[in-house]
Formats: sequence, C-alpha cells, structure tokens
Amino acid sequence: MQSTITLSKNTQQYIDLEEKYGAHNYHPLPVVLNKGEGVFVYDVDGKRYYDFLSGYSAVNQGHCHPKIIAALIEQAGKLTLTSRAFHSNLLGEYEKYITNYFGYDKVLPMNTGVEAVETALKLSRKWGYEVKGVAEDKAVIVVCEGNFHGRTTGVIAFSNDPSAKNNFGPYSPGYVTIPHNDLVSLEKVLQDKNVVAFLFEPIQGEAGVVVPNEGYFKGIRNLCTEYNVLMVADEIQTGLARTGKMLACDHENVRPDVLILGKALSGGTLPVSAVLADDEIMMTIKPGEHGSTYGGNPLACAVAITALQVLKDEKMMENAEAMGELLRNELKKLNSPFIDIVRGKGLLNAIVIKHSNPDAAWELCLALKENGLLAKPTHGDKIRFAPPLLITQSQIQECVAIISKSLLHLQG
Ligand SMILES: *Cc1c(COP(=O)(O)O)cnc(C)c1O
Repeated sequence: MQSTITLSKNTQQYIDLEEKYGAHNYHPLPVVLNKGEGVFVYDVDGKRYYDFLSGYSAVNQGHCHPKIIAALIEQAGKLTLTSRAFHSNLLGEYEKYITNYFGYDKVLPMNTGVEAVETALKLSRKWGYEVKGVAEDKAVIVVCEGNFHGRTTGVIAFSNDPSAKNNFGPYSPGYVTIPHNDLVSLEKVLQDKNVVAFLFEPIQGEAGVVVPNEGYFKGIRNLCTEYNVLMVADEIQTGLARTGKMLACDHENVRPDVLILGKALSGGTLPVSAVLADDEIMMTIKPGEHGSTYGGNPLACAVAITALQVLKDEKMMENAEAMGELLRNELKKLNSPFIDIVRGKGLLNAIVIKHSNPDAAWELCLALKENGLLAKPTHGDKIRFAPPLLITQSQIQECVAIISKSLLHLQG
C-alpha cells in the first residue's frame, strides 16, 4: 500500500494556491474539479469521475441539472434580491409550493443548513415558553450523541465531536445529550417538564450513515406527542429523496413537528434552506424577531421550486431506493476482507473499513480517485457512498467494479 500519488503540475498549482491563501479548515482529496454533469465531475486535466459524495447530498438531482440551471439563469436576469424589507413576486409562490409539497402550514426560509437548524432551535424555545409554558430561560432541547447539525457556536455547543468543538467555548447551555437510536433514554429525559424539543438526524450522516432500528421514528413520534415535546427532524442530508423516500421519516409514515431542509433544496446551486412547521409553532415568531438578508430571495425561490419539482418528475425517490438496494447487494457480494460493514438506506450509504493501517480509508479513497470515483472518508474508517440520485443500473455496476479494483490496493 503506497500513500504517495503523483499529481499533474496543473492540478498541483491549484492546490498550492488554496494552501497558500485559504484557511486550512478542510482536508480535501487532491483533485481539482472544473465541470460537473449528472453523476459525473471532471478535473482540470479533463479526467472524468463518478461523484459518490454529491456535495454531501446537496446535488441529489445531479450536477448542473438543465432544468435547475435554466431556472437559475432565467431568474438571475430578472431579480435576485429584495431583502425581506420588501415583498417579491416569487416568495409567496415558493412558500405555497413548499408547504403544500410537505404538508405544513408555514415555512421560514433561510440559506445554509446550520441557519435552518438555528431557526428550529429558536422556534422550539419560543414555542416552549409561549405555548407550552416553560419558565423563562429553563427550556431544554434533547439531542443525540454523534450528531452533526452544523458549525455555528450555538450548534457546536451540543456536538460531542472534539474537533468540531475544542477551543471554541464557552458553550451555550440548555442541551441534554442521549445516545442515537435509543428510545429508552429518550423517554427518561422527557420526564423533565422543561424539555421543549428533541432534535435528531433520522440517519446520522456525518457520523458515518448510522441507520437506526425500524420503529425508531414512530417511537420518537409517540414519545414527543405523549410528553408534549416538539419532534424536530434535521433532514438536511437525509431528506429530498436521498434515502428512497421524500423524507427519511416517510419510511415510517411519521410527520415531525418541525422539519429542517437544506442542501439539495437548490440542487447544489446556491445555499437554500428552510424550516417547516404548523401555525402553533411558526406564529410564535413575530416581525423583527428572526430573519436573514438573503433568506427567501427570489433567485432561491425560483431555484428551489424547480429543484423540488425535478425530484418528483424524474422519480428520484424510486430510483434511489432501487439503486441503493443494488449498490449494497453488490458491495456485499464483493466479500472483501477490508469491508467490515455495508450499510445505508436508498442512496445514502457507507462502508466501514477494516484494516491494520488506520489510514486505509483515506488510501482507498485515493485509489478510487485514480480509478475514476470520488468519495471521502468520515470519522477515519468510514466512507460514504452517495451518488446523485439519477445514477443508472449499469453505472452502479461500473462503480462497483471500480471499488472492487481499488480494494486490491489495500493488500500488502
Ligand atoms: C450539512 C448538514 C448541516 C449543515 O448544513 P450547512 O449548509 O453546511 O450549514 C446540518 N445538518 C445536517 C444533518 C447536515 O448534513
């Protein structure tokens, strides 16, 4: 197993620029991309790759989806930003579209995922004080171990990942952590009358695609209803057809009280996020109490309507379900001694690497890159396999062949 790969001078020069002038807050794979189309991305030397990360599931609809790009370009020539100081001709249309689409009374539009999470936390507290009747500053929000909800100081306060958290304190109080996929612990913490919400990822993405037991979502729903606590689902990564249903919660026909969306809401074109809830929750926020300059801008509205439309029109849920099944089966059939676990739902999948070298997952990703497939390790030994949702059966077969060939690299 060799860890040095040779890069073209062309590639190296782009990497050097970032190294010199950009903050070192990421550790990317050494590949420099300049074009994307459907399930493929291309590097600056013209080499083609399957994209098995899909921008952390922001590009569910495929790179540069023609309908989404057309909507983007058309709206960009008309009006891009009004701020919420004024109305636009598209905000109401978008709000009607997305609330009907997901079946909620109202939506609050934001930009990045973490802003939508922050919005959901603020809404939960406001509801807790003004509807549930929790005493001032006593609200508690329950979260899960291994969570990833973004990078603001507010959100890292309840992360238990040291690299996300260390030396960014002090951390704001008001959170209780329980294990992921543990209804017994959830019921225990819900005995506290000050709990206003349970915030969770239906499948923990960054933690390495940790799929909970069947019945977990239903169990959460029942407990939250019983104890008058908001069920807040962060579906930023699991939502929008990624797991084979429109939402991961749909696998158990469960409706969260607060739904958080982001990433693929714009099909990978610009940051668009949203929080959906019914009036009892959403109407607790009054003018001036929360907002964002870019939130709900006309460009985002036009793009998001089209991005949502494309998911249904092109039956991406059905394809994610079928192709995910195929991918996991084919990966299991490889019977590789280096693949400990294959897991996932729909096209949100991961393998866990078993190898004496702790850098084996990174090494495998370098080999995959050489062979024309891009994926990135998470938490050391896990590699996420999450291609755009329009991938075909023959493409899955080709990708499994690439993975099989790359695994040989881990021998000796
Ligand atoms: C990516 C992600 C976020 C944060 O989204 P940003 O757009 O990076 O702020 C929050 N929650 C989950 C589950 C995510 O996957």
